[in-house]
Amino acid sequence: MRHKIEWTEQTWNPSAGCTKISEGCRNCYAETMALRLQAMGVHGYQNGFQFNTVPERLMEPLKRKKPTVYFVNSMSDIFHKDMPDDYLKIIFDVIQKTPQHTYQILTKRADRMLKYFIDKEIPENIWLGVTVENKAQGVPRIEKLRRLNASVLFLSIEPLLEDLGELNLNRIDWVIVGGESGAKARPMDKSWVLNIQQQCEKNGVAFFFKQWGTWGADRKKRNKKANGKEIDGQSWQQYPKRRLEPMEFELKSTLDILIERGEAKPIPPEKIKESMERIENTMEKVRGEIRAEEARSLETASRVYLTM
Ligand code: SF4
Repeated sequence: MRHKIEWTEQTWNPSAGCTKISEGCRNCYAETMALRLQAMGVHGYQNGFQFNTVPERLMEPLKRKKPTVYFVNSMSDIFHKDMPDDYLKIIFDVIQKTPQHTYQILTKRADRMLKYFIDKEIPENIWLGVTVENKAQGVPRIEKLRRLNASVLFLSIEPLLEDLGELNLNRIDWVIVGGESGAKARPMDKSWVLNIQQQCEKNGVAFFFKQWGTWGADRKKRNKKANGKEIDGQSWQQYPKRRLEPMEFELKSTLDILIERGEAKPIPPEKIKESMERIENTMEKVRGEIRAEEARSLETASRVYLTM
């Protein structure tokens, strides 16, 4: 599905529609969009913004071989109370069967997310996040998120509605901040944004500033494009380390080809974990080279990894 979410590559909506549960929902963009899609007769939106599963979309990621970062349910909330448990299981089965993709799952229903995952092993290609729009409803969700052992834990602080004070960023890998847009948007103060950016910097957490929205850094209302996405002339578009997982997947595929050609040795199963740690370290070193020299460098990196 086409989207305008800067911090992901693709959206996947195996369910559609939702119910407002907190202050961050007040001007929900998914609701406005759902009503438009309903008027256009798009499947899944026959009942406007009412929650429903859309089984026809379940298999979409299985058809895509190219490693892709998916934002799951941009038009809904995967942990909505009406989401059936057996349907959730199918969604996570699809995720498990497509390790080439990365899935960003964001919710405001942190209680159900915690309950669902607490006794399960979370697939490595899942990133889990909660929305933190304010102190009363948003901040308590962080404690629930922190109890889960996903490869990336992230906070979507959007729309940022007030100063969040001091945050406990322990185990948090990524923080996204943004202001609200639209005619009814609520203003965001620059000092609130700086407070979060500085805490991320201090704690080594990747920080992504999405936009000012309808209200600029100067607290003036104008077009969101004109307000931009810079803080004092600097853009902040950091990603957590696991963002490069698709590249690791490509590396592993290259490795398989080399093994098939007899140009590399397979790794014994008991050494896989140790090797993965080495590959992480090696990837740090060769990442720049990989970007610059693409295919040739992928092969080089695989060889470096194999001869360690
Ligand atoms: S949880 Fe998200 S999708 Fe659901 S109403 Fe709130 S903002 Fe909209």
